[in-house]
Amino acid sequence: MPDTWGHKLAEPLFERLTVIGCGLIGSSLLRVARRNNLARTLVAADISQAVCERVAELTLADEATCDLAGAVAGSDLVILCVPVGANENVARSIGQALAAGAIVSDVGSVKSAVMASLTPHMPAGTHLIPAHPVAGTEHSGPDAGFATLFLNRWCILTPPPGADEIAIKKLSDFWTAAGSNVEVMTSEHHDLVLAITSHVPHLIAYNIVGTAADLELVTQSEVIKFSAGGFRDFTRIAASDPTMWRDVFLNNKEAVLEILGRFTEDLSALQRMIRWGDGDGLFNLFTRTRNIRRSI
Ligand code: NAP
Repeated sequence: MPDTWGHKLAEPLFERLTVIGCGLIGSSLLRVARRNNLARTLVAADISQAVCERVAELTLADEATCDLAGAVAGSDLVILCVPVGANENVARSIGQALAAGAIVSDVGSVKSAVMASLTPHMPAGTHLIPAHPVAGTEHSGPDAGFATLFLNRWCILTPPPGADEIAIKKLSDFWTAAGSNVEVMTSEHHDLVLAITSHVPHLIAYNIVGTAADLELVTQSEVIKFSAGGFRDFTRIAASDPTMWRDVFLNNKEAVLEILGRFTEDLSALQRMIRWGDGDGLFNLFTRTRNIRRSI
């Protein structure tokens, strides 16, 4: 039975887990893996010496190293937790060092592009099962992580066609034991769903905060002073990590542009309603959206 932290296992699911990239997501994974006994040995790897030193200080893993290839040797689960655009370089560094039978996964917010960049570097006999925990905050780095980040949140697995069923089940069990609810879908479907539920909302937040910053008629101090009127939530979202979000938009281009096209059409319709004083149109839309919120 899951306790309030997910499942604490009597026996670890994996012998040796390597997490590459020990920021918000990677360090949260290490914390919950230790807390819930998900793997016997935890190895942390990061390109940054300072991050490795901090991981060691926080005792998040049994080993912390900048040697990515050395870190994956002998691991039966390797999870890449780096910005989406860094996955290919990491895969190139670790490919030859991966153990036969290892499950290789990631946590990237975009799935088709990550799958395309990882696949060529996976040796025969390893199992690539990409994943995306739909959980996060606007903070970064190893100090920002916490063990309950994934609790009661969705984790979406996007195994390629023909992926090993046992490997899928084992990774699914891992995320369930970390406290998540697991769903499986294709990478293309994932990218479309996340474009509307996460990527375009972030873009809107970045845009509106940028617009407010550029307004000359409203001073910066007024923006901050009166931000409770809806703007505050946008500023929180727009404080999200610039590297991560740059990579999301560069790597989920098609789905984001598709959703943005629809969004701008709907925005133009709203603009018309306001211009022509169509109160009924506005009221009907706002009633429909309020019902959606209530059903959530
Ligand atoms: P983060 O806190 O910035 O951590 C990323 C870590 O990866 C940093 O320590 C970074 O080191 C390291 N790194 C960068 N390039 C590397 C490389 N080539 N080799 C090894 N390590 C490298 O980022 P995060 O928020 O955890 O995001 C990581 C992944 O999770 C992204 O793919 C993102 O799409 C996904 N994700 C994020 C969220 C969220 O809300 N944040 C939610 C779900 C999924 P430096 O600091 O030195 O660059």
